[in-house]
Formats: sequence, structure tokens, C-alpha cells
Amino acid sequence: MTYTSWLECVRGCGRRYSIYDAVYRCADCGGLLDVVHDVEALRDRSAAAWMQLFDRRIRTNEWPYGSGVWGKKEWVAPQIDNDNVVSMYEGHTNCFWAERLGKEIGVSDLWVKLCGNSHTGSFKDLGMTVLISVVKQMRADGKPIRAVACASTGDTSAALAAYAAAADIPAIVLLPKGKVSTAQLIQPIANNALVLALDTDFDGCMRIVQQIAGDPTIYLANSMNPLRMEGQKTVAIEIVQQFDWQVPDWIVIPVGNLGNVSALGKGFLLMRDLGLIDKLPRIACAQSARANPLYLSYQTGFREYRPVQAQKTLASAIQIGDPVSYERAVKTLKTFDGVVEQATEDELANAAARADRTGMYCCPHTGVALAVLFKLIERGDIRPSDRVVVISTAHGLKFTDFKVAYHDRTLADVIARHANPPVELPADYGAVQWAIEGRFGKA
Ligand SMILES: *Cc1c(COP(=O)(O)O)cnc(C)c1O
Ligand SMILES: [Zn+2]
Repeated sequence: MTYTSWLECVRGCGRRYSIYDAVYRCADCGGLLDVVHDVEALRDRSAAAWMQLFDRRIRTNEWPYGSGVWGKKEWVAPQIDNDNVVSMYEGHTNCFWAERLGKEIGVSDLWVKLCGNSHTGSFKDLGMTVLISVVKQMRADGKPIRAVACASTGDTSAALAAYAAAADIPAIVLLPKGKVSTAQLIQPIANNALVLALDTDFDGCMRIVQQIAGDPTIYLANSMNPLRMEGQKTVAIEIVQQFDWQVPDWIVIPVGNLGNVSALGKGFLLMRDLGLIDKLPRIACAQSARANPLYLSYQTGFREYRPVQAQKTLASAIQIGDPVSYERAVKTLKTFDGVVEQATEDELANAAARADRTGMYCCPHTGVALAVLFKLIERGDIRPSDRVVVISTAHGLKFTDFKVAYHDRTLADVIARHANPPVELPADYGAVQWAIEGRFGKA
């Protein structure tokens, strides 16, 4: 059986394109495009056979199936030649039982999916491996793609630059100047991308990169391009697989441009269509209160939507005021009985620090998700017996400036309740003993 997928207009007008066409909107109605799979063809294997196949491939050495994304190749991008897959062994990130934090906040079945434990330190690798593989296939087939380009809040550009460099494809990244972390800025520089720091915000970069990609030889790598979602949707499959094919009750996810939550939903729906699962989790989207267009729209029952001017937030990767995938995300939230909640600077920073004290090392976006989790538990939306998975989207080590400033108590609008600054002392036994006793008491 040959499996296949194509691009199709999300507005249901029926217009289709090949996944190898450099188009990002429907020429008839202007709608975004989604990747659609021939699900009938995928039914040639039973649900049990798919589960067995995916389980068997975990960390196999058979190229490219050892990657968490390419282990599900038939569901992701079946038509790509294995020789053109550009993979850095992404996926298979750990999903761990956050036992101590869960006990503190009253949910004993709390899990954290560490998507930042990846090649470039964020979940963006999952989508970029697919997009760059498609570009490599296009170039191999003689299509005149000169470069790939993206606008980014920091993590997309890091992933694009790394995967493009691995495949020897030129990369152009547009970053809002001064609005990404030092680690995020240096990643594409190190990977030899053309790094353009623009005097604007993410939404401004996004407008310009769309103009640049009007040139058909420059391929757009933002999540407006639905190929990214094909890789990102494997997180849903991986989570269920990690629970022996059981579906959790809740997933809490920090959101900005709204591609990742749409991808998450897509993964669950495909599993349900093919009979691997028979229920869906509820989804909670977590936004920064400083960049909250989805939250505001949710307050109106999604009847109204207005882009906002995103304000400066510690959760810089989700500092987005006009999310590209708004329509996709609303569809997902309606299907998954979803909720949207927001977190202030104070809430997100303290939530991250509180979790760090139980052994985690959270990026500010994971802090947003945790702060929202705390609220949903307090409100009784999430119950003590629910199994909850928090999506941690990036590695805390990419946000050292944030952590240092928190523990120095120098973050604006944050009262650092869990600050743990180093105790500076003379090299003196008595002074050290005094400090130990001050913290832990006398023996
Ligand atoms: C990209 C990103 C997000 C948001 O994902 P969207 O698809 O834009 O909603 C959240 N956290 C981190 C760390 C990211 O890099
Ligand atoms: Zn259309």
C-alpha cells in the first residue's frame, strides 16, 4: 500500500496542492493550508499493528526510524525518500512524573513532557526536521529553492539554522532586535545562517518574511507552513505511547503563534481516526497576560477576535499579538473542550521557580503553563485524580538571563518569592558553619 499526503485549504473550499509546492495560502480563497493524509490508505494496518510498529521502532538504528518523528513516517510525510530525510534524532523526549510538585499542588498524577530536551533546545526541532527534509527532497528533484527563511521569537530560527546547516541549505532568519535571549541569538549565528536583527517585534518580522517568501526560490519556514505541524503532532502520539497507549485527562500547553496546539490536536485526532485511542484529552492553552489575543477571544466564546500589540514579556517566545494559526487553534479548542487561561509576569516567574525547587529547570514559557495549571486546579477545573501532562516547550538553559535576574530579585514586576541567591562569605570555617545552621538549624 502506498501512503500519501497533500496540502488542502483549511476553509473547506477543496483546493489542493502537493506538499512539494511552495505555497502557503489557498489561491482561491486566501485560507491557510493543512497537510491532509490519505487516512483510508492508513487503515490497511490495524490500530494494534500501528502501535506495534511504532513501539518496535523506538530508538532503532534503522535509518531514519529511530527519530521520534520519523518512527511515525507513514503518518508524517510518507512520500519522502529516506535518503532525503534530514534528522538529528529528535523526539523521544522524556515525560517524567513530577511527583513532588504534584503533591504540593494537589494532583498526584502530574507529568511533564520535556520537549526542550532536544538538539536545539526546543520542540521546534520536531517540525523543522520535516520541513527541511521536504526542501531537501524538492532540491533533489530539481526545484530551484535557493534558501529557507523564517521570522522567529528565537527557537524557530535556532532549529531552522541547525537543520538547514546539516543539509547544506542556506538559511535566513529575521529576529526582533533585543527581544530574544542571548542563547537563542547565538544559535543561528553559530550555524552560519544570515541573521537579520530587525528593529520591530515578531509580528513585524512575520510581515516582512512573508514578502520575502513571495520569491518562489525562498521557502517559508514559519508555522504558517503546515509541514511543521506534521512533525510537531508526533508529541501527541509520543505522550500516549509513553502511557502504554492511554490518553491523559488534561494537556496544558503554552501558546503563541498557535501552531503547536493545533499540531497537538491533529496528532490526537489521527490516533482516534485510526482506532488507537477512543477518547480525547482536554486541552488548556496558557498565554502570557502581556500577549493574550487567544485568551481575550476565549472570553467572548471565540465570537470576537482582535490582534493585540504584544507587550514585553519574560515569556519571549510567545510574545505574539497576531497569531497566524488562530483559526486552527479555535477549531482544536472546540474539539477538545479546551480552556484558555493567562499568567502575569509575577505568576509565570514564580511558578517556574517553584517547579525548579522540585528538581525541574523551567523556561519562562513552561512557567506560564505551570502558573495556569495552578489556577485550573484551584478553580476545580482540573481535579485531584486527573492525569495531567504539562508540555515544557524549551530548555531552561536557553533562558539563563531570566533565571539569574529572578534569583537576583531584579526582574521588573516580579516579587521573587523563591529567590535563592548565593551566600557570599569570607573563606572562614565559622562563617560557613553559621550559614549552614542559618538554613538548616543546629545538629
Ligand atoms: C514556539 C514556542 C512556543 C509557542 O508555540 P506556537 O506554535 O507558536 O504556539 C512556546 N514555547 C516556546 C519555548 C516556543 O519556542
Ligand atoms: Zn481555499
